[in-house]
Amino acid sequence: MRYLDEYRDPVLARKLLAEIHRITTRPWTLMEVCGGQTHTIVKQGIDELLPPGVRMIHGPGCPVCVTPLEQVDKALAIAARPDVIFTSYGDMLRVPGSTTDLISLKARGADVRIVYSPLDAVRIAAANADRQVVFFAVGFETTAPANAMAVWQATQLGLDNFSVLVSHVLVPPAMIALLESPSNQVQAFLAAGHVCAVMGWTEYEPIAERYHVPIVVTGFEPLDLLEGIFMAIRQLEAGRAKVENQYVRAVRREGNRLAQETVFRVFEIGERTWRGIGEIPLSGYHLKPAFARFDAETKFAVEAIRTKEHPACIAGAILTGEKAPLDCTAYGVLCSPQQPLGAPMVSAEGTCAAFFAAGRGIGAPARPLEIGAPDTSTREVPR
Ligand code: SF4
Repeated sequence: MRYLDEYRDPVLARKLLAEIHRITTRPWTLMEVCGGQTHTIVKQGIDELLPPGVRMIHGPGCPVCVTPLEQVDKALAIAARPDVIFTSYGDMLRVPGSTTDLISLKARGADVRIVYSPLDAVRIAAANADRQVVFFAVGFETTAPANAMAVWQATQLGLDNFSVLVSHVLVPPAMIALLESPSNQVQAFLAAGHVCAVMGWTEYEPIAERYHVPIVVTGFEPLDLLEGIFMAIRQLEAGRAKVENQYVRAVRREGNRLAQETVFRVFEIGERTWRGIGEIPLSGYHLKPAFARFDAETKFAVEAIRTKEHPACIAGAILTGEKAPLDCTAYGVLCSPQQPLGAPMVSAEGTCAAFFAAGRGIGAPARPLEIGAPDTSTREVPR
């Protein structure tokens, strides 16, 4: 398939791998930011093919995973109302709240619907004037333009029965929080290509300079990741710390200005709580006051909901790269994709789900190395 097969070429993959081995003289720890990248790395076994001492640790770039439990509980409280049609991307439906999840609520009769775009939710609102329609706006910068567009369109249509439960987070503040943590291990980042396709990479340049950490904007296919790793190690070995762009086919330094204008017409930047990390200043989008009437939290008075995580789940340490899924005593025992305790196991982009799907640590037979093999998985596009 064009634009995919050429980035999964096994011959080129092995050449890149050989180059990584050739230039590496000492141990390095790299973090891939995005959960979509984690899935490719784990599925293809890329992390197991790197030179001894070169470690990939998996970052907080799974938007479903970093959505706080209390935000899931707020979604559940709203979705349970008989006057509400609750809409969401499919990957939020099985994320466990404190007592249940959206798909169980749906099975009990709640009107919970999967949509493929927030604009679908606007259309549902326009067609159901007697019902309140809520869209669960979860994601990084990547999905923010579409969500902002939905709010803008609802404004243009004069809809008063549409609202959004916003849980948008931003990548650069999370990278800074990781770098400032006393337990930080990250020496170089692979930044998420799709986020940078929207926002560009100018925000990353002061981070690279201030913390002296190479940042390589990287795509999602096996060759993208191998080239991103190569570029990051090449900088580390040379003592350089710049932002470089591996994902040249999709990302420009300034990003997509039109998409950015759409976002900032509707959203403003403010504090956000990240699951497992806590509050990070200026790390998320909130609706501007002019669009406050579209805020589902205030419309349904759920702001006060507070929740505690399951005590066995170490999602926080997983999301900050301090621990791997195999360090969790619940992994594969109490927690599996069928019965997830935490979002990293249930989310399409979660690190625990990536390890489980690859059979790691659950007695599955070792897989042959399959770098460059076609990815036949049905996981969703990273967001
Ligand atoms: S394996 Fe399950 S319980 Fe353990 S960290 Fe992952 S999601 Fe949480």
